[in-house]
Amino acid sequence: MTEAEVLTIFRQSSALLEGHFRLSSGLHSPGYLQCALVLQHPREAETLGAGLGALVRSLGAQTVLSPALGGIVIGQEVGRALGVRAIFAERQEGMLALRRGFALDPGERVLVVEDVVTTSGSTRETMDVARAAGAVVVGACAIVDRSGGKQGLDVPFHALLPMEVTTYQPDDCPLCRQGIPVTKPGSRVK
Ligand SMILES: [Zn+2]
Repeated sequence: MTEAEVLTIFRQSSALLEGHFRLSSGLHSPGYLQCALVLQHPREAETLGAGLGALVRSLGAQTVLSPALGGIVIGQEVGRALGVRAIFAERQEGMLALRRGFALDPGERVLVVEDVVTTSGSTRETMDVARAAGAVVVGACAIVDRSGGKQGLDVPFHALLPMEVTTYQPDDCPLCRQGIPVTKPGSRVK
């Protein structure tokens, strides 16, 4: 699957937002990819899962583990592509944990799947959940890599779409100076 094909899917789902956005980091940005708007379409989600599956198949994962909520849908689809189970970790008193009876065996080969990796903080935390259970993290992957190659994980990492993100400090933002209203991603859909 090429980057152009991935971008086409985002455009067709109106998930490639252009304008003036306040990111969860507090920084302002002229563009944003809203993965949820693609993943709401099961067929597109399956296509992206198959694309990621092809990138990570050789890692030999036995189980996909995703952080809730953003990673759940694509984790399910990567699990489908690889023919393995897909489970998720979720926050309990601020810490990611396996709940709902989900468990990992010692030595189990785990692939961490995310929708977007930016600082890779939640990816690391999800890897820690697997390792704390004695599992072996064989790799990580995401639909979109916004880290600029700086995710710095100690396992193989793959993404369908490397995305350089332009960001501005809120007090030094050219879009603010132009008087363009700033919106939170997700609060407006083209
Ligand atoms: Zn701004």
